[in-house]
Amino acid sequence: MQFALTEEQTVLQQTASAFVDRYCPAALAKTWDETNHFPADLWQRMADLGWFSLPYPLDWGGGGGSPLEICIIAEALAHSSLDVAMAYVGTFIPGLVIYRHGTDEQRERFKPGLLEGAYRIAVAISEPDAGSDAAALRCSAVDAGDRFIVNGQKAWCTGAGLPGALIAAYVRTDPDAPKHRGISLLLIPGDAQGVQIRRTPTLARHLLGTNEVFFDDVEVPRENLVGALHGGFSLLMSGLDMEKTVMAAAYTGVAQSTLDEMLAYSKERRQFDRPIGNFQALAHPMADLQTEIDAARLLAYRAAWMISSQQPCTREASMAKLKGSETYVAAARLGMQVLAGHGFSTESVMSFRWRESIVATISGGTSQIQRNAVAKSMGLITY
Ligand SMILES: Cc1cc2nc3c(=O)[nH]c(=O)nc-3n(C[C@H](O)[C@H](O)[C@H](O)COP(=O)(O)OP(=O)(O)OC[C@H]3O[C@@H](n4cnc5c(N)ncnc54)[C@H](O)[C@@H]3O)c2cc1C
Repeated sequence: MQFALTEEQTVLQQTASAFVDRYCPAALAKTWDETNHFPADLWQRMADLGWFSLPYPLDWGGGGGSPLEICIIAEALAHSSLDVAMAYVGTFIPGLVIYRHGTDEQRERFKPGLLEGAYRIAVAISEPDAGSDAAALRCSAVDAGDRFIVNGQKAWCTGAGLPGALIAAYVRTDPDAPKHRGISLLLIPGDAQGVQIRRTPTLARHLLGTNEVFFDDVEVPRENLVGALHGGFSLLMSGLDMEKTVMAAAYTGVAQSTLDEMLAYSKERRQFDRPIGNFQALAHPMADLQTEIDAARLLAYRAAWMISSQQPCTREASMAKLKGSETYVAAARLGMQVLAGHGFSTESVMSFRWRESIVATISGGTSQIQRNAVAKSMGLITY
């Protein structure tokens, strides 16, 4: 067993850190968040570095990066903000579904956009009545031969309102089949006729925006069906371990950044003639937090290694997601206490961290759902 990164991975980590320092430091990400600004130029810079093509195999024109290398980028980007990391991760995760399950024609059609990061692929699973129970989705697509007619509503569709968005919509194509069996995946351009997008006001996630999407008799050509008809649920599940693992790395990055920010403050700020970090009441929780962050990082890296070595890792990816996201929430909460009045000012980066952290234990599967997955692997929960 060895814990060191390779020389190549170390260079990648340094490059990604320098990228954040130069183009998207946390204070700038906060400004973007406050102005609902999507930094298209930042996206382009990531594309220029080849980061969007990294997850795809070399023989397909991709960068052939390992899950660990992708985690390294996500972790570094999250020092800027979770939203910036999500802009990266949220693009290639659904892209890999198209790559793995699409027809040869679809792969060729979408290849340039996937490799260059030209699409913002917005995943539409959730609905007003289908959250954790994703298979309860009702948005319907009627098979009309050469096309599907889609009607219904999606909720929380991140990035659907961005220019060039391609909505990867999970829809019900067989209303009579058991709920996991009658679902299919359709690719629907965000500007298709009959699609209406309404931004949801949220605490954070303002770079990408999250949206309600309404489909009113939207005609989707059959060639935009990905995978087997009615076979969508297995596609939905297929990328989950990778998503949880890479997002776990991102949570670790942003939690570390949050700790670094409170550390710097606690060494500078003086009360009772000494730096506040010198009070054991603050020093111990920060020591505990560093321990938790290191544990979270190791869990994320272990899951990445398991994906690379093609081992089943639903339990380990869930553990990593659970630990990483809860650690970020705890870090932001502690940061607010350490910075005290200064943190409570909405001018502080810490207040942005605190707002943004809340989503970590909700989106991509709540902490309760992650615990369910771990408990199932222990033979505890059987439903
Ligand atoms: C900012 C943001 C961005 C998002 N982006 C997307 C996106 O791009 N695409 C998309 O499809 N969805 C997206 N989502 C939706 C997200 O996946 C759901 O919010 C999440 O799965 C939880 O669903 P819910 O909010 O409906 O909560 P519910 O499922 O209603 O859960 C409510 C509470 O009940 C608990 N609970 C539910 N079932 C169980 C159970 N079996 N055991 C124990 N506890 C349970 C939950 O943990 C939670 O505490 C996003 C959400 C947010 C907030």
